[in-house]
Amino acid sequence: MARESHGAKQVRVRKIVALLKRTHPDAKLALDFSDPLQLLVALILAAQARDDLVNVVTPELFSQYRTAAAYANEKESVLQKQVSRINFYRQKTRSIQQACAMLVKDFGSQVPDNIDDLLRLPGVGRKTANAILANAFGQPAIVVDTHTWRLSQRLGLTNQDAPDKIEADLVILVPRKEWTKFCHLLQFHGRRVCRARNPDCPNCSINKLCPWPGKTKAK
Ligand code: SF4
Repeated sequence: MARESHGAKQVRVRKIVALLKRTHPDAKLALDFSDPLQLLVALILAAQARDDLVNVVTPELFSQYRTAAAYANEKESVLQKQVSRINFYRQKTRSIQQACAMLVKDFGSQVPDNIDDLLRLPGVGRKTANAILANAFGQPAIVVDTHTWRLSQRLGLTNQDAPDKIEADLVILVPRKEWTKFCHLLQFHGRRVCRARNPDCPNCSINKLCPWPGKTKAK
């Protein structure tokens, strides 16, 4: 198969975005939140956990803890108990409290709106930082989670494995104004259609735009 030019790949990406918008008009961040602090807490809890479970746990937290200081000053054992339904809850409790303590100490109790400061917060990696920029501050950002990772590879948009390198590949292929939406679309498509095991290729709306050699066949 002839090597696809960068320009041709950009055109294909635009078609993929348009089709996925029609397929998943409801695509958005699956976590509930109403301000940057809530999103920071939800994202720390959501690492390797189900978003719907996080959404069950966070309403009580959000009503009880309204500031970074409130989280930082809570007894660790109390906060642990409140999030104990979520995996790695001890480590996540520590990350929430350490991140909130840093917000109080260094950032005027506000979640920063730039990647460099976000990455200083304990428990915040590049994926979480970009998710905060994209969803709490409306700044276009590429969030490489497990779905973005898998689908970008299957769709032939990257041959990288490291999330920061995948992000770098997608940044030059996807129109900037679509970065955030593109990732939400891949996340929804990855959950509903292009699952890790047994993807539903015969019923996939972007089948004709997908070069993955492992596509499943109609039964
Ligand atoms: S055709 Fe199959 S592998 Fe390609 S995006 Fe669709 S479900 Fe995924």
